Amino acid sequence: MGENRNRPAASYETVIGLETHIALKTETKAFCSCAVTFGAEPNTHCCPVCLGMPGALPVLNEKAVEYAAKAGLLLHCRVSLVSHMDRKQYFYPDLPKGYQISQDDEPLCTDGWLEIPAAGGGKKRVRIERIHLEEDAGKLIHTAEGTLIDCNRCGVPLIEIVTKPDFRSAEEVVAYLQELREIIRFAGLSDCRMNEGSLRCDVNLSLRPRGSEELGERAELKNLNSFQFAAKAIAFEEERQAAVLASGGTLFPETRGFCEETGETYAMRRKESQDDYRFLPEPDLPPVVLTQDQIDRWRSELPEPPAERRARYESEYGLSHETAALLTVSRAAADRFEEAAARTPWARQLANLLAADPERLEAGIPVAAQSLAELAALLGEGSVGAAAARRILDEMWAHGGDPREIAARLGLLKLSDRASLLPFAEQAVAANGRAAADFRAGKTAALQALLGDVMRRSHGRADPAAARALLLELLGG
Ligand SMILES: [Zn+2]
Repeated sequence: MGENRNRPAASYETVIGLETHIALKTETKAFCSCAVTFGAEPNTHCCPVCLGMPGALPVLNEKAVEYAAKAGLLLHCRVSLVSHMDRKQYFYPDLPKGYQISQDDEPLCTDGWLEIPAAGGGKKRVRIERIHLEEDAGKLIHTAEGTLIDCNRCGVPLIEIVTKPDFRSAEEVVAYLQELREIIRFAGLSDCRMNEGSLRCDVNLSLRPRGSEELGERAELKNLNSFQFAAKAIAFEEERQAAVLASGGTLFPETRGFCEETGETYAMRRKESQDDYRFLPEPDLPPVVLTQDQIDRWRSELPEPPAERRARYESEYGLSHETAALLTVSRAAADRFEEAAARTPWARQLANLLAADPERLEAGIPVAAQSLAELAALLGEGSVGAAAARRILDEMWAHGGDPREIAARLGLLKLSDRASLLPFAEQAVAANGRAAADFRAGKTAALQALLGDVMRRSHGRADPAAARALLLELLGG
């Protein structure tokens, strides 16, 4: 952004802090046994507890605490042995309770960090101030007739991850969100689907003259739901604030929305003072108490992070960076690949085979590790070609089965034995008299035409080396 000296933004430094909400992938909601769903019929997964009916009592979902703590551990936070749930009071139509259960001054996780690629190479560490556990609100659906409310999302467990104001550009923000999404998804804590709202972020952005240490007045850009929109909103806001400052105007703290059509941010409300949510301790829930043993066990259950796996795949199996990245798209895919790779000397061939159809890897690989290893051996030993191996994999993916049996059934095994190849070779010599004569006259290049004919007649199954040897024998060469 700062390259063009004609733009006002060039004389200012951008300072950004992020608040990211991530919906946890628990089976049930944070305080009741309603299922966590996406896209279900509106208001079919709610009960008196998540609707906040008088007298209903919340019970904290232990899985939600575990997932939130695991997110904290992945982000190098300190996980508190004792934390508290609080009521955050505010009115909004999608919040029938009139308050949200959240954590105020004693959050579950504090003082963490996440490293992102730095602009000039190397790494930059973004400090994480806190991660707290809270519940989601419902969803408003605006129609021509009026606004409808869907409460299925009420009470879905969320974590809010709050960073220090450590970002200086949209690129850093996007890098952080990508890194965060990958780590959380890989550990199975959330789908992190921005288009479904399971990962959303608020950007707190201010400018200050370059060289200044003081923070400027900030605008909070709410609910950005794609990386691209986050980057666009930041770029627009940098220019807007710089133009105000450059013309001698004054900025004031405010909350702004982002219009996807115009790519502009717009004023929603001015913050006259700090929002007053009148937090009070949630009277219906006891403190969240953990033991160090529990935290240690959760730490031991965390998967090796995807970036480290990629590096290991590159050195251990000789994979390209791209192939390693495709295989680590999900923990399920990576785990299955590793199980299979441990059973075959042809791990690299297997990796390339799996990476040839990357779209389907995200949901995991529904083929047994042993079958994958056997398929890799068929390919590695030359019993089948690459295209045939892909067909066998597709077949196993859809219906299971034994790779050698599938190869035989679909006629995909390469023909390398004399008895199978002889008829093709004899026919080729008989049908290409001119090429055969040329070869015998010393034009060795003529063999290529004969070999091509053998391949055609065998529908590509002839093993080229074996077919070549047989042709030479027939031609007396
Ligand atoms: Zn419920």
